[in-house]
Amino acid sequence: MINNASKYSTIIKAEAKRLGFLSCGISKAEFLEAEAPRLETWLNKNMNGEMRYMENHFDKRLDPTLLVEGSKSVVSLLLNYYPSETQTDDSYKLSKYAYGNDYHHVIKHKLKSLLYFIQDEIGEVGGRAFVDSAPVLDKAWAAKSGLGWIGKHSNLLTQQVGSFYFIAELIIDLELEYDYATTDHCGTCTKCIDACPTEAITEPYVVDGSKCISYFTIELKENIPTEFKGQFDDWMFGCDICQDVCPWNRFSKPHNEPLFNPHPELLDMTKKDWEEITEDTFKKVFQKSAVKRTKFAGLERNIEFLKD
Ligand code: SF4
Ligand code: SF4
Repeated sequence: MINNASKYSTIIKAEAKRLGFLSCGISKAEFLEAEAPRLETWLNKNMNGEMRYMENHFDKRLDPTLLVEGSKSVVSLLLNYYPSETQTDDSYKLSKYAYGNDYHHVIKHKLKSLLYFIQDEIGEVGGRAFVDSAPVLDKAWAAKSGLGWIGKHSNLLTQQVGSFYFIAELIIDLELEYDYATTDHCGTCTKCIDACPTEAITEPYVVDGSKCISYFTIELKENIPTEFKGQFDDWMFGCDICQDVCPWNRFSKPHNEPLFNPHPELLDMTKKDWEEITEDTFKKVFQKSAVKRTKFAGLERNIEFLKD
């Protein structure tokens, strides 16, 4: 006989697929025991740089039942953002996830639809939706739920579709059937470690966030330390190098989410266009984009840092 937890898990996963998510995996909401020492060491070594928010809510970050009262399950979801086309070669580079509309809004909308579906189909279910939200260790949850493994570059990846997707969660007070973690398929490969221009991957599976180009170009509010001049390989917002070189990403397939398509002018902009960009063009091209996070002045600072 099929129990309710199993039946509910099946219909939730089917609806997640229908909403356009790449995959959905479910874990019991409980203390993330294996992650606790890892997170503590990472913070003690100041690998979070100026990202002080990573130090907050330490207990809540490891235990979803402290974050969402009465929670029983963490439903992890992946949403593909791999683009069919990338920027012209003569350009400063943007991380591919930032080409289209701000993913926070796109995914929040889908997560809410999934939660309403659960409430309609199953009954009174309480919970919260999280997208790239500081208190949730989304990669750890996705890995625990069997959606992929955490690679040596510390991103989640799969053999089927690589690593270019967003991770989001619903934490809900409904008991479900739980999935198992998959195995690690990095093997002896060290391509991501070898390719990182700032040596931010200090050892396999450990990224020193305070040395990562993504941190410098997005999170850091002050000037970028001059010792890193010449090491950014033209990345002006985020960095995809460790993912681009990963052999599993040859299996990435283009997304089918129209809201992730770039502004028509974006992919053709050359280095010269970027160097001459006005605040008006910035607002037009990035009207709904996550790039707005750096503000015009932040992007200008990054471009200035890249210029010879
Ligand atoms: S995103 Fe870029 S800088 Fe950061 S770890 Fe990967 S290769 Fe290194
Ligand atoms: S590049 Fe190699 S080591 Fe790095 S995540 Fe991919 S498979 Fe793993």
